[in-house]
Amino acid sequence: MRAVSSRDDADSPKEACGVFGVYAPGLPVAHLTYLGLYALQHRGQESAGMAVSDGDTVFVDKDMGLVSNVFNERRLAALPGNLAIGHTRYSTTGSSTWRNAQPVFRSVGEHQVALGHNGNLVNTEALAAEAGMLPGTVSSDSDLVAELLEHELQERAADLPAALMTVLPRLEGAFSLVLLDGQRVIGVRDPNGFRPLCLGKLETGWVLASETPALDVVGAHMVRELDPGEMVIIDADGVRSMRPFPEARIDPRLCLFEFVYFARPDTRLYGQNMHVARQRMGEMLAEQAPVEADLVIPVPEGGIPGAQGFARASGIPYGDGLVRNRYIGRTFIAPTQELRRNGVRMKLNPLRENIAGNRLVVVEDSIVRGTTLRETLRMLWEAGAAEIHLRIMSPPYRWPCFYGMDTGDRSELLAANLEIEEIRDYLGVNSLAYLTIDRLLDATGAVNAGFCTACLTNDYPVEVPVNLRKDVLEKNEMPASDLERLVLDPN
Ligand code: SF4
Repeated sequence: MRAVSSRDDADSPKEACGVFGVYAPGLPVAHLTYLGLYALQHRGQESAGMAVSDGDTVFVDKDMGLVSNVFNERRLAALPGNLAIGHTRYSTTGSSTWRNAQPVFRSVGEHQVALGHNGNLVNTEALAAEAGMLPGTVSSDSDLVAELLEHELQERAADLPAALMTVLPRLEGAFSLVLLDGQRVIGVRDPNGFRPLCLGKLETGWVLASETPALDVVGAHMVRELDPGEMVIIDADGVRSMRPFPEARIDPRLCLFEFVYFARPDTRLYGQNMHVARQRMGEMLAEQAPVEADLVIPVPEGGIPGAQGFARASGIPYGDGLVRNRYIGRTFIAPTQELRRNGVRMKLNPLRENIAGNRLVVVEDSIVRGTTLRETLRMLWEAGAAEIHLRIMSPPYRWPCFYGMDTGDRSELLAANLEIEEIRDYLGVNSLAYLTIDRLLDATGAVNAGFCTACLTNDYPVEVPVNLRKDVLEKNEMPASDLERLVLDPN
């Protein structure tokens, strides 16, 4: 049985965690963390948690479920303190159990440390082996980081920043971290900055958050994004910045899918607003793949700004063609194909009045597996569409993500196994166009800022160890040309 999340479906990459931190003596930091996590709920719905310190003790509260299900007034009141970190989780490594909910906590002598992690390490196994841990004793990459910090604090380091300076350079992959001990909140971004992390200022304190709306909701103003490879330490002396990684490793590669879909529409990254960038993707699709049609409709929610942009650039009217049930539960279990099909209908229902007899342009943000989209398109045909022209706001998703997005393995990626014409045929539409990578990068408005595009181009910025890629090779019938490429270019 497979659990299907509310954004559903097998067709979209799943988000992988939101992190938040606040240092604000005198303010109700647990409540501020609750608000911040609420604003980051879209990044993970499996579990939520926070760690709060009053200077003497670190209190941790976490559970499976949405932020609003996990926390209530009574639980927040039991978390007194001046500083806090919080986490919403979607599991990409480790199982989906309470044990893996975050923050992760360790107590070492006089040190108490809590950690929240967004991203995936690619060298977890090697690090665990190096540290002499038995296989299976580390439940996730985040747990491993906590283990390494614990070890360092036990053996050598005077405090958490010193332990981080030793441990961080050993980590490879994607990690935006928030950490806390009794005195300080710390934020870290990996040398590629795969996942976002920003710094905000309260009147009497500081905030760290995966995305800018979490600053807005607590009344903080944006100061800046952390640089790739930067660590900021926030304590009674203010904010100071450190650089734990060698200069040679710094190579900004923000996940391009933050722009396409993951980040909230009101988030700003690289100084750009996500909603505006997504509208530009739609405009560029209209230039790249024009078509004669009567109505442009989005697959909600992800396709909405793209459809608006397509309509604006093409002059074809924009309309609603699919109504989304906003009140659908977080998760439902879909054990059979038939029930999965019903699941699609629980979430989206066609608006027949806008569809019947019309030539439609349908805009979607991405296609990962394609199963849900196929059902959605079938509904449009059943509702009487005269033609369907599908336009996708990103290039074909052909390679798995090893940096913290759950896309499944390569055999599950529709475009890994089919040519565009075969995909068009499988989805049953009159025409299909994916936005080209150059246009997508242009549409971000930050083309030179540095992006990861690995799942679209097979250009992995951080080498993925053979054991992970071997996994890909074993599980899938990869074409010989790709096998060759892997052998020649392990990146
Ligand atoms: S591989 Fe794709 S989803 Fe993963 S970080 Fe890179 S761009 Fe994002």
